Amino acid sequence: MSREKFENILKGGITRRGFFKGSALALGGLAASSILPSMTTSAGAQAVDRAGCTPLPWEAKPTAIPASEIKKTVKCDALIIGAGLAGILGSISGKEQGLKNVIVIDKNPEIAFRGAHITAFNSKVHKKRGININYRQIVREWVRWAQGRVNEDLLVSFGRKSGAAMDWMIDLVAPKGIDVDLWDEYFKGPDYTEYPVTHIFYDKNNKDDHDARGNGVLVPALFKVAQEKKVDFHFNMKAVQFIRNGNGPVTSVIAGVPGNYTKYDAGKTVIATGDYSSNKELLARYAPIGNMCDSQIYFPNKCNTGDGHIMAMQIGGAMQKVSPHACVIHLESGAMSYSFLHVNALGKRFMNEDVNTQSKSCGKLFEPKGGIAWTIYDNDGLAQVQEQIDKGMSGGLFFGQLNRYIGEKWEMNYEKELREKHIKEGKVVVANSLDELAKKMGVPADEFKKTVNRYNDLAKTGNDVDYGKRKDLIKPIAKAPFYAGKLAATLLTTSGGLHTNLNYQVLDNNDAPIENLYVIGAAAGDFFAADYPTICPGIGHGRCVTGGKLIGYILAKKSTDAVPTFNF
Ligand SMILES: Cc1cc2nc3c(=O)[nH]c(=O)nc-3n(C[C@H](O)[C@H](O)[C@H](O)COP(=O)(O)OP(=O)(O)OC[C@H]3O[C@@H](n4cnc5c(N)ncnc54)[C@H](O)[C@@H]3O)c2cc1C
Repeated sequence: MSREKFENILKGGITRRGFFKGSALALGGLAASSILPSMTTSAGAQAVDRAGCTPLPWEAKPTAIPASEIKKTVKCDALIIGAGLAGILGSISGKEQGLKNVIVIDKNPEIAFRGAHITAFNSKVHKKRGININYRQIVREWVRWAQGRVNEDLLVSFGRKSGAAMDWMIDLVAPKGIDVDLWDEYFKGPDYTEYPVTHIFYDKNNKDDHDARGNGVLVPALFKVAQEKKVDFHFNMKAVQFIRNGNGPVTSVIAGVPGNYTKYDAGKTVIATGDYSSNKELLARYAPIGNMCDSQIYFPNKCNTGDGHIMAMQIGGAMQKVSPHACVIHLESGAMSYSFLHVNALGKRFMNEDVNTQSKSCGKLFEPKGGIAWTIYDNDGLAQVQEQIDKGMSGGLFFGQLNRYIGEKWEMNYEKELREKHIKEGKVVVANSLDELAKKMGVPADEFKKTVNRYNDLAKTGNDVDYGKRKDLIKPIAKAPFYAGKLAATLLTTSGGLHTNLNYQVLDNNDAPIENLYVIGAAAGDFFAADYPTICPGIGHGRCVTGGKLIGYILAKKSTDAVPTFNF
């Protein structure tokens, strides 16, 4: 397995060198990505008076762009900002529901996609596989995970419509040779339990190839569908400002570059600009844990700078009322963690390692010396993982095989090759003694050996009185060579966004909708809070699909009742 191959899996499947140029993984700390979108600053912003407080950049009202700089005016029924999963699907649905002129603009030269996992409840794939889950329980846990700080109606609406939206998308891409299956890497522990709600698309001619699955095959196929339906795409077209008629409707969107702007006079405008993980200022205000992470990745080229959030707030739109916002923080840019002993920079154990990737990545951040953490195992380690997989006990996005379908074999060789690669990259160190391993990790050897000895004692009794790990997951670390993999909390996306209602309208601080302005996908709020609920892995993409399907009806002023409802 080449490094390129592995990174492609993270990106979503396909090698597209040109497309990803300049989007290298930021593996060694937060990459400089904090530049606010130019509209807030370069347009000569005027600060809002906050009684002597330093104004936050997004609170500044932008100076109106002079008419002389607007070189073109374009009229359309609906303007969608952002050619990602949400925006492309929204455009297809709008066309299907009868809108004549739908334009999608994007600041990048091409469409955006990454990852693979997509949640839906009770899709046709569930029915085909005979999987019937307690969906009510999932929603209960989701609300609990968010400590009740969400709009529960949005969650229920998702639960009811996501299956039909998924089925619709499956039918859209089937003629393009793309099919779908369910994913097996969900966490199967008794707590932090994840559910088999996750779909992965693949190229029908290439089902076994991990590289040919995920959004890297799905989203380009959807783009083709949108083009066939005569959606008009304007790339290299960055939205910079909304024009709102006082407290009335949004009438236009200005996009482009200084001196050469286009004014889109759109009947309706949909924000589908993604999240704001590449904007350090927004992170500091709404999701500070994002700035603590070891690395941050987003494809393409860290386009997730929160432009849509900012533009909406500048004309009176509100963020969801509760912060901090949830963040998707996984272990992608470090070593594979598995559920082995984890130690910190002091050589001490610090957690029950029997948790999903999100909880593990977040938990480690609070450890000494900037959250340094290692996973420790011996020569038998991967065989132990194999056994756990075979017993149906394991999963949780901390293996190399991120995109395994239900029933697909777990390949030990895949993990071994990946480990070799990680050894070369310095993410994994290997030694023939614990002393040597401690030295390579830079942790105090005596403390480290004490920790391993204690862990081995617990393994003998099978009773983890220190942290309560499941008996079958605690095994002695005794046979050389010994391995230590460095864990990296990797910020993927923020999951908080603009205050919205069941019709995806952007709301102001008084909960009143801003006429003609909508939001779907990762920019939409009130759906997550506190922490990202991996109980439904792929719920980020899932809501892009459901929102994309429903927004077409809403834009076309049709009832969403026409979308089949699953009364779970
Ligand atoms: C490595 C990685 C793997 C992931 N894997 C998964 C997964 O498996 N499952 C899951 O659920 N989630 C996953 N996510 C998160 C998920 O990909 C996103 O949350 C989701 O795709 C967002 O889709 P979107 O359409 O809302 O936004 P995006 O896909 O980000 O698209 C937004 C588009 O808007 C454009 N845009 C932004 N600002 C402007 C502007 N001012 N003017 C014009 N255009 C603009 C951008 O260029 C971009 O093309 C992953 C994230 C990462 C980083």
